[in-house]
Amino acid sequence: MNLYLHKYEPVIGLEVHAQMKTKSKAFCKCSTEFSAPPNTNVCPVCLGHPGTLPVLNKNLVEYILRLGLSTNCNIRERSIFARKNYFYPDLPKGYQISQFDQPICEGGHIDLENKRIGITRIHMEEDSGKSMHDFSSDETLVDLNRCGVPLIEIVSEPDIRTSKEAFDYLTILKQLVVYLDICDGNMEEGSLRCDANVSVRLKGAEKFGTKCEVKNLNSFKNVSDALEHEIERQIGVLESGGEIIHQTMTYDAKARVTSPMRSKEEAHDYRYFPEPDLVTVKIDEDWKQRVKLSLPELPEEKAKRFIADYNLPQYDAEILTQNKAIAEYFEKVCKGIDESSFKTASNWTMTEVMRVLNDENISIEGYWIKDKNLSSLIKLIAEGKISNNIAKEVYQEMLAVKDEEDPGQDPANIVKEKNLIQLSDSGEIEKIVKKVIEDNPKETARYKGGEVKLLGFFVGKVMKESKGKANPQTVNELLISILG
Ligand code: ADP
Ligand code: ZN
Ligand code: MG
Repeated sequence: MNLYLHKYEPVIGLEVHAQMKTKSKAFCKCSTEFSAPPNTNVCPVCLGHPGTLPVLNKNLVEYILRLGLSTNCNIRERSIFARKNYFYPDLPKGYQISQFDQPICEGGHIDLENKRIGITRIHMEEDSGKSMHDFSSDETLVDLNRCGVPLIEIVSEPDIRTSKEAFDYLTILKQLVVYLDICDGNMEEGSLRCDANVSVRLKGAEKFGTKCEVKNLNSFKNVSDALEHEIERQIGVLESGGEIIHQTMTYDAKARVTSPMRSKEEAHDYRYFPEPDLVTVKIDEDWKQRVKLSLPELPEEKAKRFIADYNLPQYDAEILTQNKAIAEYFEKVCKGIDESSFKTASNWTMTEVMRVLNDENISIEGYWIKDKNLSSLIKLIAEGKISNNIAKEVYQEMLAVKDEEDPGQDPANIVKEKNLIQLSDSGEIEKIVKKVIEDNPKETARYKGGEVKLLGFFVGKVMKESKGKANPQTVNELLISILG
């Protein structure tokens, strides 16, 4: 932490681009598929050939409305597109279609735990192509598949004050776009891209300081690290009597420094003007209502429902609903078990399932234990057929079977095969208890003489003799009654 941070206050505003999951591009019928060979998902429209006309993809409007309505934005009844002009080899038209002074969504907000962050605007635009410098040392290749892929840009008010708040804002925004099913939310793969605007001012000052914009932030951690460094850099400049110059910075995650970008990239004169080839986007009350009604259950509501339907503590409900797909997995597991085991299912999901996701660095989509098999395992515990400890053993066996259709992953089969069924038959257990007492006359005498703490010794012996399968409660009861 910077020594001078008590003296200064950072001011942060984020501009986030989210790639929409529509099947086709924003203004033509080309596919948005990610892994197609270079320059195969292109047509005269997205290549900007003369004489072609763009046609707006209605789904893009639906998608941006979902986010706009979920963040309490005002939806403009009539919004228009604008051309943002600049030259770049991966921009064949020489301009990007975007929205400028009449964006479709304005004036919303996202609530952090203790704070509301304003959303200035959310608008639609198209992506550019991609220049690739890594294929050879003296050539740059251009892939135009991404040209015209639909993006939305979410611009926050300068309401963010710390790198932690920036991180939290992004986390909630990501969660929201994933829940709304409009973006896959993957920052590392570029489906979410964040530019961070930051300035510092003396605490108590009213006027904002001069801001710098940090680009090249491709993970949540990079955003918060870059902000920390940029804040320190700016305070350093001011403290040594310097002045902040308004410029675009890039963050080098390896060297952990922010540095100015080539000045070419800063020449911000886009000569925006209204796009003459697209008609005004008109949103009537009906359309808004339809989208409103179609909005899925969002994390907060889902957590509330989990508390009510599964009788879970708030903590569990929040953890389980952080990720939509994990929440769905949990609900599927619960379909296969009794109400009395919902908390057990929550515990298993939060610990055993999430641990594997962490260890393997995979998402729940890649988790290979079938929900039905986890339900069966929980049922075996609930029915007293296996103890918790044995269940963990069985779980390890299940994990070893990667094919979820393989009957070898079914815990019932594992338990049968390995003969792990818990001994609950008190007649059987009694035999073992009696044998252990016979085998240990000295300890028996001491126990009878008042050394009751030796009970643990006997329990251990019985459990060992039963290979861990004896029901511990029955063992305890029998020992106490037989030892007298
Ligand atoms: P520009 O005209 O440079 O694009 P905008 O006013 O459009 O600037 O704001 C872009 C982003 O920068 C927004 O997210 C906004 O909240 C943020 N921002 C604006 N002024 C400041 C400032 N002084 N310090 C930090 N962030 C700022
Ligand atoms: Zn096309
Ligand atoms: Mg701006």
